Amino acid sequence: MDWKDYRADEHFVMRDAPTDAKAAREAGLDKQTAAREMEKNIARCAELQDALYADGREGIVIVLQAMDAAGKDSTIKHVLSGMNPQGVSVTSFKQPSKEELAHDYLWRAVRALPERGRIAIFNRSYYEDVLVVDVHDMYKGYRMASRCIDESEEMFFKKRYRQINDFEEYLYENGFRVVKIFLNVSKETQKERFLARIDDETKNWKFSASDLKERAYWDEYMKTYQSVIRATSTKHSPWYVVPADKKWYARYLVSQILLDTLEACRPQYPELPRADRENLAACRASLEAEGGEGARKEE
Ligand code: ATP
Ligand code: MG
Repeated sequence: MDWKDYRADEHFVMRDAPTDAKAAREAGLDKQTAAREMEKNIARCAELQDALYADGREGIVIVLQAMDAAGKDSTIKHVLSGMNPQGVSVTSFKQPSKEELAHDYLWRAVRALPERGRIAIFNRSYYEDVLVVDVHDMYKGYRMASRCIDESEEMFFKKRYRQINDFEEYLYENGFRVVKIFLNVSKETQKERFLARIDDETKNWKFSASDLKERAYWDEYMKTYQSVIRATSTKHSPWYVVPADKKWYARYLVSQILLDTLEACRPQYPELPRADRENLAACRASLEAEGGEGARKEE
């Protein structure tokens, strides 16, 4: 199974999406090989990121969505380890503040968008506004004109799907690629990781009793994710549903997706105009004319 096979389309069926690493093993990819491949991908990503930054013609948004304990944080930590921090931002989208709720739901996402040349990682995102908000019917309590909420639930979220597609298309048409990743963990693995968070004191801080409440809505979440992914996986802004029970496999796949996205941008170092190139030659000549001990090599 190739990483591209995890790309979802409008026929995506959550129940058929693997959470384990069976496909990797069948393809002869074990933990060590995946880790090695990931390192190579990361090194290549770092080179391309450097060029993307210098080029400044495209920006990238990586959206990470998942159930609790799927490994969003550690994936970000590992996959971004080789990047130049100057060109990357990570934004976590938590429960909206009063100020955020007083705005349209894309407002806070817009504020976190990268400049061209940079990569923004969204740890959760505006997709929460069609996920948790749907699962818990939160929108019904929102202070909005009745014309915005007095319609069927189906219509309300159908409109939001359309708005999200429009938003991502708008970004694409303005030089930004939005790539979405769902880290697909099984309910069983989530239970194991919750237990580890409860038993291991150094992991206690990662657990909150409210995580259990959300777990109780598991089926509802899967159903909602399926409909969101079906409606919003587009040519330029695809969803990848990545098996996340084995962190090494998930990280490897995410590094592939990031690499592919960077390659698609084809970043080029800007070529200096002729006059500037000539100026460089003059600068070199003037430095050399200084004489002295000669150029010391940088370490
Ligand atoms: P971790 O638990 O690993 O620290 P997390 O992303 O789960 O990371 P939390 O602070 O536990 O962070 O949870 C954030 C919560 O905020 C999630 O339950 C998420 O569903 C919720 N949330 C995010 N965006 C919205 C939104 N627009 N409306 C309502 N709830 C939201
Ligand atoms: Mg949480």
